[in-house]
Amino acid sequence: MRLILMGPPGVGKGSCAEYLKTHYDIPHISTGEMFREAISKQTEIGILAKVYIDQGKLVPDDITNELVKERLKLDDCKKGFLLDGYPRTINQAEKLDKILVGLNTKLDAVINLVADYQVLVERITGRLLCSQCGKVYHIKNMPPKVEGVCDDCGGSLYQRKDDTYETIMKRLKVYEQQTKPLLEYYNEQGNIININGATTVSVSVNEIINKLGGY
Ligand code: AMP
Repeated sequence: MRLILMGPPGVGKGSCAEYLKTHYDIPHISTGEMFREAISKQTEIGILAKVYIDQGKLVPDDITNELVKERLKLDDCKKGFLLDGYPRTINQAEKLDKILVGLNTKLDAVINLVADYQVLVERITGRLLCSQCGKVYHIKNMPPKVEGVCDDCGGSLYQRKDDTYETIMKRLKVYEQQTKPLLEYYNEQGNIININGATTVSVSVNEIINKLGGY
């Protein structure tokens, strides 16, 4: 299964991906996660990406495209993959098409998660992540049993630096301007599946799996 997970920030792409990667036994490739890892390791790409991410802007296409191109070449992607947060611009989508032609493969579906912006802002401003296993919590809607500690692995919880109200508003604007036009791009290719992202993760995941049933 070769999938793209699309949708505005906070719509639940990462949370749904956690289930889908296990269900379809495919690697979860999140460009945001790759950048965050590069930042924590202070690599050249990480240092550069941080400047854009902290301002709520997109990392330049050439850097992002190269990262994904190299990742998709790895052996574990032969059985499929789940792209989360990539592509985010028309340039990236066109580049991805070329990468896939080069790998002699094609997408099965583009999953588009949808939710009102009010829901997204509420979710992102309360979002907490585990520094060890990446599990996502919410201060009000899904708090950990012990404040600041992951229920699953005991790792410490943190708030993403780009999850502040000010940066979210910028990220939503960037989504509107640069990423939303991709829906039309994939609509023309005829492989978009719209999913309600305003509900719980398990409901969204079930809807995705049901709709992908025929693939
Ligand atoms: P995410 O974890 O997907 O919300 O991504 C966090 C941030 O990483 C985004 O706000 C962007 O600054 C950057 N980023 C992630 N994916 C991409 C991409 N495909 N193109 C450009 N920047 C990206």
